[in-house]
Amino acid sequence: MDLHSVRQQFPALQQQINDHPLIYLDNAATSQKPETVIRAVEQFYRHQNANVHRGAHQLSERATSAFEAARTTVKTFINAASEQEIIWTRGTTEGINLIAQSYARPLLQPGDEILLTELEHHANIVPWQIVAEQTGALITVVPINENGDLNLQRFAELLNDRTRIVSLTHISNALGTINPVAGLVRQAKAVGAAVVIDGAQAAPHLEIDVQRLGCDFYLFSGHKLFAPTGIGVLYGRQQLLGAMPPWQAGGEMISRVAFSGTTYNALPFKFEAGTPNISGALGLAEAIHFLSALDRKALARHERALMSKALELCSAIPGFTRIGSPTACTSILSFQLSSHHQQDVGLMLDQQGIALRTGHHCAMPLMERLGLPGTVRASFCFYNTLEEVERFAQALEQISQMRSFAVAETISTQSIFDSSPFGREVRDSDILAQLTPLKHWNDRYREIMQLGKQLPAFTTAMKTDEHRINGCESDAWLQVSQDAEGRLWFAADSDARIIRGLIALVLAAVNGRQPEQILAFDMKDYFDQLQLTRHLSPSRGNGLNAIIQAVSERALQRAHNPE
Ligand SMILES: *Cc1c(COP(=O)(O)O)cnc(C)c1O
Repeated sequence: MDLHSVRQQFPALQQQINDHPLIYLDNAATSQKPETVIRAVEQFYRHQNANVHRGAHQLSERATSAFEAARTTVKTFINAASEQEIIWTRGTTEGINLIAQSYARPLLQPGDEILLTELEHHANIVPWQIVAEQTGALITVVPINENGDLNLQRFAELLNDRTRIVSLTHISNALGTINPVAGLVRQAKAVGAAVVIDGAQAAPHLEIDVQRLGCDFYLFSGHKLFAPTGIGVLYGRQQLLGAMPPWQAGGEMISRVAFSGTTYNALPFKFEAGTPNISGALGLAEAIHFLSALDRKALARHERALMSKALELCSAIPGFTRIGSPTACTSILSFQLSSHHQQDVGLMLDQQGIALRTGHHCAMPLMERLGLPGTVRASFCFYNTLEEVERFAQALEQISQMRSFAVAETISTQSIFDSSPFGREVRDSDILAQLTPLKHWNDRYREIMQLGKQLPAFTTAMKTDEHRINGCESDAWLQVSQDAEGRLWFAADSDARIIRGLIALVLAAVNGRQPEQILAFDMKDYFDQLQLTRHLSPSRGNGLNAIIQAVSERALQRAHNPE
């Protein structure tokens, strides 16, 4: 198979980011889409667009048969027994919520047990917590071993005759662990539990046969499988789905509605209220055709080669630690660099066009178990190349060689306001003059890190919850004091060096000013001029936004009630 020509079919991979060719290593978050999938979505809107299952016209009939053919494609892909077992959802998350509310909620009695594992994504934790609260059921959690494998002995021990539901991931999105699900399903069925498998990470990498696995429910998302966002699949055994009440109600899921009572439509439509994501379903079917036309064993071999190359090169980098080393794992490499906060690593790689994910990966309980605030995660896909892995390892090595700045701790709370140069010797105008001539990202970030170094650090005692800023992937803290003239002085700190640098930029602009001046300051324009506006984009892990938000909240409070 010609992997180069496979890669050529993904237009998004053919672009430059920050003047570097994009190296996309965030495939566990979402995968790129091949031309055929993009075209299938476009073709639908150009030529077939109509609502399904209801029009008295040809377009609607065409749309309906394409939509139902897509369902058959999915059925074949995972070897379900019938199309009635394939329910369209928005994705894995929605599927688990449906099972929790429609299957589990009527079933569970107080004291019944739901068995989860420490490897789970939040999508496979929170819906169960909600249904446990609603029913009085209890959640038990299978621990992992040090290497990130599920503790199989504890799994067996925790199963008992109160276990009604076992819900576990096929592959961990944070560590790449492949769980031996077929055996686990057998054990769970032996105590009479229903088994839910979160297949979000497995569908793109493994061949799935739900009948051979013997599970009751299986879930995956289109967007991780080269298909559009907003479409996913819930597989359920017909016998269970047939007995479950509808979850959402509306059109499509009924067969007859009267105010005296409504009868529900047959499977699978009973669970598909409202107009579905038709183009998404067609895109998903196209993605499955695309994948099925390739030699999937060869794709998997290439992904293993990418992973071993990455491991070999990265292990030689000083300070590199792989997080977890599961016995069986997919092409997900979670790691830390001892000298640098994960958020700094992510930012510096991004500057060179290398896209990956940092943080808790929607698996906070797992991070807590590992005693880590988060990791850097590179996730490889068959369209990645060995050269990309080499470039990634080189970039990582360069970062590891960048000096990490030791930060001196200050002593008292007051001295942290007095000793900060920002707002005194260093103003926003100085920063603009210093940074705007620097055109290369490397130079600019080095200066930002230097600024961060001048920011006085909080003592451990000052890093209290009261001063913690929410919304940060890295931890950050903020304190404010107002002087006799009513001017505000802020002090802030963060675990991530680049965030400290960015905080220094903010403090230079706001410190020593009246609350009204701070509120009137155009932060966006300032960051525009510094060419750092991307740090203001509203993303989940954005610590800087949270700091700016907190600064203006404090200014607003002081503007109304001066001390
Ligand atoms: C991505 C992911 C989910 C959530 O999928 P959505 O597409 O966001 O609904 C759940 N579990 C695992 C293991 C995942 O990787």
